[in-house]
Amino acid sequence: MFIELDGWMAKLRFSASHFIPDHPKCGRLHGHTYAISVRVEGTQAGEFIIDFMELKHIVNEICDRLDHCILIAKNDPRLKITQDNGYYTVEIIKSCKHYVLPGDDVLLLPIPSVSAEDLCTYFIKEISSVLKDGGSADTITALHVRVDEGIGQGAGCSMDL
Ligand SMILES: [Zn+2]
Repeated sequence: MFIELDGWMAKLRFSASHFIPDHPKCGRLHGHTYAISVRVEGTQAGEFIIDFMELKHIVNEICDRLDHCILIAKNDPRLKITQDNGYYTVEIIKSCKHYVLPGDDVLLLPIPSVSAEDLCTYFIKEISSVLKDGGSADTITALHVRVDEGIGQGAGCSMDL
C-alpha cells in the first residue's frame, strides 16, 4: 500500500534561483517554482502508513529552507566558492564567469549540482533522515520523491527504508 502527495495540489512548493554551469541556456542565473511530490510505501500502523499532516510538515520544512534562495551546489567541481565579508563569490571554472552574491540570499547545498536530479537526491535524503529520526520509518518500506522544475518536467528517485 502507499500514500501519495502531489506537490502542486498539496502546495509543497518553493521558488528559487539556480544555474547549471556551462549549459548554454541554464548557465545563466534563472528561477523556477519547484513542486515536491512524495509517495510512501509501507504497512498501516493503526489508521495510517504515515499521517498526511506529518509528511506534509516534513516536506514543507525543507521547502521553506530553500524558498526564495539562490541555490548553489557546494560539491560542484565546476564551481569555486569563496566567502568574504558576508558575500559569496562563485566562480565558474573554465568559463571565467563570476557571480558575487549576498550570503543572506545563498543556500549552499551538499550536492554535486542543482539539477532537478540532484535536488531530488537532496530531498529524499532529508525526508528519509527525518522519518528515521522520528521513528516513523518503522512501517515504511520505500520512499519515492519527484522534484518538478515547473509543471510538466521533473526528476524522480526512490529509496528503500
Ligand atoms: Zn533551471
